[in-house]
Formats: sequence, structure tokens, C-alpha cells
Amino acid sequence: MSGATPLRANILLTQSEVHQMFEDKTLICKDCGNEFVFTAGEQEFYASKGFVNEPQRCKECRVARKNAARPEREMFTAVCASCGKEATVPFKPREDRPVYCSECFASMKEEED
Ligand SMILES: [Zn+2]
Ligand SMILES: [Zn+2]
Repeated sequence: MSGATPLRANILLTQSEVHQMFEDKTLICKDCGNEFVFTAGEQEFYASKGFVNEPQRCKECRVARKNAARPEREMFTAVCASCGKEATVPFKPREDRPVYCSECFASMKEEED
């Protein structure tokens, strides 16, 4: 009967307890099934935006979905033949064809009607 049972401190103060409300959480990605961490910082950010749902997907899958939804198109820069401003177009501008910026293009379309 010797030796004292080591007492474990009941109170462990961690940094996250300063924020109290948020703790890192491990979630399972809906798409790839991998675990990912929903960090306290992200939770705070979500809460500040008023989001109530937890993220369903890991970062990689979210990025992949974003890219899939908006395929990156090669854009070309040209000078608008109407206003002279820089115009960004999704096609390679040809020398023999005028290029218009989206504003001029829209107003020309209006005039056509
Ligand atoms: Zn994933
Ligand atoms: Zn223009």
C-alpha cells in the first residue's frame, strides 16, 4: 500500500477554451469519404456568416466542385473597338474583326431590337 495514485488534473485549459464555443471537429467528406477537420476558426467564420450547416465536403472536393461548376476558360484581352477600353473575351480576337467589351456588346444588342 504505497505510492499515491497520480491525480489527473480535471481542468485542462487549452487555447480553444478561450473561444469556448468552437472546437476543431472531424467530419467525413460526403464525396470522397475522407476525414477532414472543420476547424474552430472555420466554425467561427461559418457562425459569423450565419451558416447553420456544417460543410459536407473536404477542401479538395469543394475546390474540385467549384472548378467543375465553373470551368476555367482561356480569356483573351483586346481593345474594345467602340469605347477603347480593355475588353476580356473568351475567344482569340481576330485582326479583321472588331472586339467589343461586354458593356458595348450589350448596348449594341439593345439597339438591334
Ligand atoms: Zn472529399
Ligand atoms: Zn466598349
